[in-house]
Amino acid sequence: MGNGGCLKRTHGCGELSLSLVGLEVVLMGWVHKRRDHGGVIFVDLRDRTGIVQVVFSPDIDEVAFVRAEPVRAEYVLAIKGVVRKRPEGTENPNMATGEIEVAAREIVILNVARALPFYPTEAANVDEALRLRYRYIDLRRPASWRVFALRHQAALVIRKFLTAHDFLEVETPLLTRSTPEGARDYLVPSRVNPGSFYALPQSPQLFKQLLMIAGFERYFQFARCFRDEDLRADRQPEFTQLDIEMSFVEERDIRNLTEEMLVTLFREVLGVELNRPFPCLTYAEARERYGTDKPDLRFNMELVDVSSLAGKSSCRVFADAVERGGVVKGIRAPGAGSFSRKMLDELSKLAVSWGARGLAWFALEESGVRSPLAKLFRPPELETLIGRMGGRTGDLLLFIADRQEVAEEVLGRLRLQLADRLGLVDNKQFSFVWITEFPLLEYNEDEKRYEAVHHPFTSPRDEDLHLMESHPERVRAKAYDLVLNGTEIGGGSIRNHRRDLQEQLFQVIGLPKEEAEEKFGFLLDALDYGAPPHGGIAFGFDRLLMLMLHLETIRDVIAFPKTQSATCLMTEAPAPVAPKQLQELHIKCLPALTDQGVKSCRQLDS
Ligand code: ASP
Repeated sequence: MGNGGCLKRTHGCGELSLSLVGLEVVLMGWVHKRRDHGGVIFVDLRDRTGIVQVVFSPDIDEVAFVRAEPVRAEYVLAIKGVVRKRPEGTENPNMATGEIEVAAREIVILNVARALPFYPTEAANVDEALRLRYRYIDLRRPASWRVFALRHQAALVIRKFLTAHDFLEVETPLLTRSTPEGARDYLVPSRVNPGSFYALPQSPQLFKQLLMIAGFERYFQFARCFRDEDLRADRQPEFTQLDIEMSFVEERDIRNLTEEMLVTLFREVLGVELNRPFPCLTYAEARERYGTDKPDLRFNMELVDVSSLAGKSSCRVFADAVERGGVVKGIRAPGAGSFSRKMLDELSKLAVSWGARGLAWFALEESGVRSPLAKLFRPPELETLIGRMGGRTGDLLLFIADRQEVAEEVLGRLRLQLADRLGLVDNKQFSFVWITEFPLLEYNEDEKRYEAVHHPFTSPRDEDLHLMESHPERVRAKAYDLVLNGTEIGGGSIRNHRRDLQEQLFQVIGLPKEEAEEKFGFLLDALDYGAPPHGGIAFGFDRLLMLMLHLETIRDVIAFPKTQSATCLMTEAPAPVAPKQLQELHIKCLPALTDQGVKSCRQLDS
């Protein structure tokens, strides 16, 4: 076995076509499939450019034929042969190179392969845990190579765009202090500073602000971020964020620039033309009309407030809710009037599981209104209600009578359920929307204090400043999120560039002056030394790619992702370490609940 002997690669497997018939080529790659047809051996040879059929037969070359005999799937080969048109009737229209094949005259086995735990050809049907354990085999699938080629191209387009707009890419530290973004920190113990820890960044937030104070004016970075969260949803403990910061700008400038960047990205990478400007809703509007701050605008179905009608209703459930200070809101599901009782009961159960007291439904049928509640309304009243909802025969009307947050939240979720069941979502569409004017703070009932909705470096809106002391919950922020197809893909804000305002904010969120000074003194000092007005945004690069490619999970766009329990099945990280390492770090483990933790403690004690 050698490195191909005297063979020198001339082409990629996927580069061969009819125009090259008659040419002698040298290919190198993996055996995707091997078929033995008695006197002829067919090998589908694969490299990152694609797959081509290679034929070995004694008629072409006796020696090569004999040498091809022991070849098995995933062996690594170098072959020399001549491109020829496939015989009439044997073309493969499912293969990009299906009109030709290579008649092999030489073969060098560059490496053999044992029986694999699974083969790239079957990876799509293999359990994900096994695929993650042998990720390098999983990644041999031509489809995954294309994902990473596209990821690379997307980063390149963004780098080019931002460079052309005078941005500088700057790296910020990974070993740093805690930057609050709402998750737990990953901590790294310091050997040379016993008892002290670095935190891996949840985002480069403070460094990018400091770069503005340093006068860089326009910064970006493909930044690796680390957040120790409970990984219920499709999240990763480490992920890539496209991080941007600019000086002397307003919200609108940041939104415009990033819109332009995304338009360029979608055009150059996908050939998709996005419409600008992207629609924009305030947080309050989004909640009122779609029941969420991440509305999926690929379909309509807006929430309608019928409280003014419901308050006067003869139906007590409706009237009482309004009397108690709540609301009655509804949605109209076109064409869902034919849902069976069983389906409607299921929707009601869902609504209750999401916190509603109940769900009122009205199916508008040819023969009249089908609803357990219909008889509780006076007929003209019901008609007005249906008219207010724009209801037509065949529709289903759903109502929740509750506190405003509950009614909106539950209807927002039902809206998604219904769109899914009614097939209203066009999966090929890209629907962006900005959400602005977020509340600056929210009250944390458990901790009995206010906390920042985005992060505590976000600026309040000027017109709400007077509410900071009296009604912190009513202060709106200069913050914005970008939502794509109902998923948040980015968010940012204008920052506090004045020390007094930043200090006031720390105070409102219950961070005592000494603690603020201890944790963020370096930032507060910097704000004193000539900080320009500045703001920025960050995009979840993995999530954006996942949506661009219509993939199911962000694991598909990360080369070596972790599992839901933050482990790497391939390297088996995290893992216990040698007692000596722990000693050097001045760390002693407490008995932990896991076997591994217990093991590492025993090692330390021994
Ligand atoms: N640091 C924020 C985040 O990671 C983004 C920003 O405010 O620019 O979500």
